[in-house]
Amino acid sequence: MKGKIAINKELCKGCKYCVTSCPKGVIAIEKQFNKMGYFPAAPQHMDKCTGCAFCAQMCPELAIEVWITDNNKNNTKKNRRSAEAEKT
Ligand code: SF4
Ligand code: SF4
Repeated sequence: MKGKIAINKELCKGCKYCVTSCPKGVIAIEKQFNKMGYFPAAPQHMDKCTGCAFCAQMCPELAIEVWITDNNKNNTKKNRRSAEAEKT
């Protein structure tokens, strides 16, 4: 499985929950403010992402979307846990 994430920088409040929850060290905090005046999170090492969606589950702003690719089937879909976090 390989993962991919997208972070909506304008929703991000820079709490770093995603940074500390990612077991692979994929996410870092940027050095430029977003429009709300926060330093937003951004994926920095996407090649390490497994698509586990821990980051999306921890984000209080629902700013993160996660996709997983099944290498055997060669298809990409939104991680179910990521999608469920958006509904709550
Ligand atoms: S999906 Fe998992 S591995 Fe990928 S950035 Fe989020 S917490 Fe890290
Ligand atoms: S958990 Fe969400 S709000 Fe907090 S830094 Fe990460 S993307 Fe931004």
